[in-house]
Amino acid sequence: MNQNVPIPLPHGITLTIKREDLLHPHISGNKFRKLKYNVLEAKQQGKTALLTFGGAYSNHIAAAAAAGREYGFATIGIIRGDELADKIDTNPNLAFAAICGMHFKFVSREDYRRKTEPEFLDALSAEFSDCYILPEGGTNALAVKGCEEILTDADAGFTHICLAVGTGGTISGVINAALPHQQVVGFPALKNAALWDDIRTFATNNNWQLAEDFHFGGYGKVTAQLVTFINDFYDKTGIPLDPVYTGKMVFGVIELAHQGFFPPQSRVLLIHTGGLQGVEGMNLLLKKKHLPTIKTQKV
Ligand SMILES: *Cc1c(COP(=O)(O)O)cnc(C)c1O
Repeated sequence: MNQNVPIPLPHGITLTIKREDLLHPHISGNKFRKLKYNVLEAKQQGKTALLTFGGAYSNHIAAAAAAGREYGFATIGIIRGDELADKIDTNPNLAFAAICGMHFKFVSREDYRRKTEPEFLDALSAEFSDCYILPEGGTNALAVKGCEEILTDADAGFTHICLAVGTGGTISGVINAALPHQQVVGFPALKNAALWDDIRTFATNNNWQLAEDFHFGGYGKVTAQLVTFINDFYDKTGIPLDPVYTGKMVFGVIELAHQGFFPPQSRVLLIHTGGLQGVEGMNLLLKKKHLPTIKTQKV
């Protein structure tokens, strides 16, 4: 569903947002797209469990757990940080995954870094038999294929497509589906010099670029300025944003529009990739740090 964003911008630039966050109540936005063909493939291979990797605040972990529950797979989460094992209940993201039935294996940061090594994966396959392994963030060729379905024929009139970037899987699908006259602009939510190459392994077109100045200090880093922006945007538009991905992206788009990045009369499509289930956990952290918290729809 596309929705007009009533934020006035210079030079006749307009903003529209694609509400992928509303695709599914628990498998949010782009994670639904990324899991779709992987779940079908796992079924085809006769697997009974999905195994994947993530940090304590990973939206992918929550989405994979919910997908397992919905489509009849056991789920195993390899979680970064062995100090978290006795803190599941204090982390809303992990608590949600646990309610969906996810089994956790907490590993040290050192072991977690081996997440793509064949020997490490073989050992996990032996420990958890019959599992279909999804990489961290869920990015693989089937995930990119799913993300190619985000844009539809009705989006042909947009000049620019803007979205948040983590591992680069989602933007790769959007790039592949974009039309030659459309420019795709990615807003990385983290510092990662390898991202350009990671995207090139999946993206088949060259009509894209990254705006790298809007990560707010790195992955999961949230400032008072960002929280204020997200709350202000919610008041003005009724559209909730998450602080890890979509909040930073929309902040960046509006900033770039004022800096003259977009030509006059540009019709800019923002992709709301979801992530709202993470707001509760982030608010707990913000409270601890005596920072302002993000307004939510819940009363
Ligand atoms: C995971 C996630 C992203 C990043 O997706 P990638 O395919 O890893 O680039 C963007 N937005 C939200 C809300 C996410 O949860």
